[in-house]
Amino acid sequence: MAAHDLAYWRDRRASLRIPANAFIDGESTAAADNATLTTRNPATGETLAEVAACGADDVERAVSAARRSFESGDWSRAAPAERKAVLQRLAALMMEHREELALLETLDTGKPIRDAHELDIPGAAGCFGWYAEATDKLYGEVAPTDGDNLAIITREALGVVAAVIPWNFPLDITAWKLAPALAAGNSVILKPAEQSPLTALRLAELAQEAGIPAGVFNVVPGLGHIAGQALGLHPDVDCLTFTGSTATGKRFLDYSSRSNMKQVWLECGGKSPNLVFADCDLDAAASTAVQGIYFNQGEVCSANSRILVQREIKDAFIERFVAAASQLVVGDPLDPATDVGSLIDTDHASKVRGYIRLGLEEGGRLALGEAPSGEEQDAFVAPTLFAGVTPQMTIAREEIFGPVAALIEFADEDEAVAIANDSIYGLAASVWTRDLSRAHRVSRRLRAGTVSVNTVDAIDFTTPFGGYKQSGFGRDLSLHALDKFTQLKTTWIRLQGGP
Ligand code: NAD
Repeated sequence: MAAHDLAYWRDRRASLRIPANAFIDGESTAAADNATLTTRNPATGETLAEVAACGADDVERAVSAARRSFESGDWSRAAPAERKAVLQRLAALMMEHREELALLETLDTGKPIRDAHELDIPGAAGCFGWYAEATDKLYGEVAPTDGDNLAIITREALGVVAAVIPWNFPLDITAWKLAPALAAGNSVILKPAEQSPLTALRLAELAQEAGIPAGVFNVVPGLGHIAGQALGLHPDVDCLTFTGSTATGKRFLDYSSRSNMKQVWLECGGKSPNLVFADCDLDAAASTAVQGIYFNQGEVCSANSRILVQREIKDAFIERFVAAASQLVVGDPLDPATDVGSLIDTDHASKVRGYIRLGLEEGGRLALGEAPSGEEQDAFVAPTLFAGVTPQMTIAREEIFGPVAALIEFADEDEAVAIANDSIYGLAASVWTRDLSRAHRVSRRLRAGTVSVNTVDAIDFTTPFGGYKQSGFGRDLSLHALDKFTQLKTTWIRLQGGP
């Protein structure tokens, strides 16, 4: 990556083809009524493409194609080793097109090109590769029945799986859902967020090139309350896997109950606490906390947006945190020197600035960042840290989904755990301490799907990721994710005859 500079990426951008059609039943297609949505580069406001805006008719076509392909058995009954080879080819193609995909992701979302190229694209390709490897290593079970019976427990694909995806890690989260769903033999329909459809559309083309049969991999870009809702309510979708806000997640439970009781898996919002105890490695805790909140402009569901610091080290922590955060370069996402790019759009940036104003009104003190002037027109928000925050303040309770951290003091372990757990969310938490027993004690008491000790936001293909409480249920990543996209069948055989 070091070889590439801003001029290189600008040059590549000039010749970049931007996909704009939906992908249904193996074909690139406009929406049935030719409706489109404008997708823009949030860093500049430039229009990137008029992308197909799918409606109920397009969703209907995609679901029929997915069902037909599933019933045909071309993919669902292919030998696991065959599915593995195709998914491995897809992972390899994604890496061959890494720069193109990184560029599409950065232009569409405003995230730094360095992150898109070094993390998002290899992460998504790696995820397809990881589940490809798992495909032919999954065994069934034989139940311990008595000798006159044989009970075999097998895993079967669910059928038609729809995935509705947010805009913060468009290709990565797509891979988290689609790689295990496809590895298990399902046919899929992907609805990317309206703000960031481009890599999903390119991925569909690459999936076809890799050899995924027509109808198995469909993409229906469009608005949430139209295309997303049509998928949620569709009677022939067997499973809906969702990542996005808690409010939208709840709608999918309602859609399911009003339609066919499809399985729903939800990865929703967070307000993750980062507990910093006085006995920790303070330099590491402070500099890593900066990454924990400002990575990807703070648009991370598991961002450590509540920093809980033991009272006696508060001033030293703030000093180190501010020094490290001040080094971050905020700017043009296409510049490889940029650490913090633009937020997803100007509406979201105004919402984040609204929280900064509210934080000040409710008595928070800015230790880093500036009070909004009210004149801002762009989608950039600088890293911001509030000190003097109490657990009752809005900025300590609501998900901001931007580069804004709230620092709250605590006296002891009990108070730290009580504040940390006082949230409707429970996605992730971090703990900084040199005391091994405390690390275990506190980890056990934290109501969160992932607890990272002496690091932040630990995540890997090998470990489950997902939430407690209103952060949702069901787990992405690891072999456990396959549970969501398969169902168990018991085949019971009464043995007859014999000596
Ligand atoms: P969102 O809920 O607004 O949108 C997510 C998806 O749902 C989009 O594709 C959108 O089009 C669709 N949608 C919106 N309204 C809909 C409706 N009425 N019916 C059906 N579909 C609808 O969320 P967002 O703003 O794109 O993403 C930010 C949120 O996602 C944050 O809350 C964040 O915490 C969460 N998130 C969670 C995780 C996780 O793994 N837990 C990961 C990333 C983001």
